[in-house]
Amino acid sequence: MIRPIITLRRVRIIVDIDTQRDFLVANGKMCTRNHPVVLANIRRLTAWARLKNIRMISTARINPKDHSRLDFCVEGTPGQEKVPYTIRNRHISFAADGCTDLPRDILRRYDQIIVSKRCDDPFDEPRADRILSELKVTEFIVFGVLTECSVKATVLGLLARRRNVTVITDAVGYCDKETADIALRQMEAKGANMIDTKTALGASHLHMVGACDCDMCRGKSSCDCRVRA
Ligand SMILES: [Zn+2]
Repeated sequence: MIRPIITLRRVRIIVDIDTQRDFLVANGKMCTRNHPVVLANIRRLTAWARLKNIRMISTARINPKDHSRLDFCVEGTPGQEKVPYTIRNRHISFAADGCTDLPRDILRRYDQIIVSKRCDDPFDEPRADRILSELKVTEFIVFGVLTECSVKATVLGLLARRRNVTVITDAVGYCDKETADIALRQMEAKGANMIDTKTALGASHLHMVGACDCDMCRGKSSCDCRVRA
């Protein structure tokens, strides 16, 4: 019998989806339209996860150098890097190499697993599929990008596996608002809990964006003005 890789139970876990520079900073190849709000909320959520010692599963998109169409999150470029405050000190990273090997008791030894994937759907990537499918936890708390692609695929995949999923609705970034709204409605219809950061964590005066210094992010950091979509 194969020993389960992850044996944490009755706990929450964060699923942090593709929070990389190309999606979340203004000069990124595919920067999301609502990135200032999303970054500020992700910063709060990751600080909360550190404080509460909540483990994180992070997916990271990676595209090959020579692909003509997939020019974002390209291997070896700054755009492929994760936003710094989404990285925990005790983390372990895995390449998208088609293997499913994982060390024993991985989430006892590390606070975060960062797993690369070559596609939107983590369940199409063998190692990410294994990690997400074998995790037996009470609740998956999901944020990241893109709402209309990877977030949708991850949430619907977890729900299809009968997992309890909570989507943080103001910590998911989109490029196409209309498609993202439809995706969020699909997730909710399939059973995801939909809450915003304030409901999850309580009100806060902390709105620092940190990772991006475009005008919108600077405006948000200084006055918490609403970002125009
Ligand atoms: Zn910005």
